[in-house]
Amino acid sequence: MCEPTVEGLKRYPETAGYNVDLASPIPCVCTPACWVRCAGECGCQACSIQFITFCEASGRLSALAPTSQAEEEALYAYRSLVGTEPPTIIRRGRFDGR
Ligand SMILES: [Zn+2]
Ligand SMILES: [Zn+2]
Repeated sequence: MCEPTVEGLKRYPETAGYNVDLASPIPCVCTPACWVRCAGECGCQACSIQFITFCEASGRLSALAPTSQAEEEALYAYRSLVGTEPPTIIRRGRFDGR
């Protein structure tokens, strides 16, 4: 498993750069060029899962079909969330990176 990037650490500060939403923590490998709310476009699994979790949590299951209109709308909703803190769905877990 690879390490989180510096940007990943900023995106998941409470979990040492990992998305801990699944059983095995996934390192965020985002770069500063990513969207504030990256949905995994850069190849980052952690943020991809985070977006999928957002879709599921908000009942947007049809958004999970790639390049659908529903996906576009879900991406828009995802990115227009207020603030720079990680989504609450991420904050329920804690992981120290070790
Ligand atoms: Zn990421
Ligand atoms: Zn990214």
